[in-house]
Amino acid sequence: MFCPKDGALMVPKKKDGKTVLVCKKCGYEAPVSDEKKYKLVVKIPHTTKDKTAVVEKELALSFKQDEEEREELRRQMLEFLVEEG
Ligand SMILES: [Zn+2]
Repeated sequence: MFCPKDGALMVPKKKDGKTVLVCKKCGYEAPVSDEKKYKLVVKIPHTTKDKTAVVEKELALSFKQDEEEREELRRQMLEFLVEEG
């Protein structure tokens, strides 16, 4: 969910035993109407981060001897991951 005031991404936060969505930018709070749906949305950036970490690890192992080439390939890989979404 996005903040109706400024369009920033809202993050879940526990308040009085309930989960509410809070805007990190302006502090606007909204009740969570569909928690499952929200969880599905936050999974996407997490997966992308894991994927990037794996790629960087693999590249570090494969191109230890050629720093310049490794950096170039890493950059290309990250661009690819961004495009893929
Ligand atoms: Zn806001």
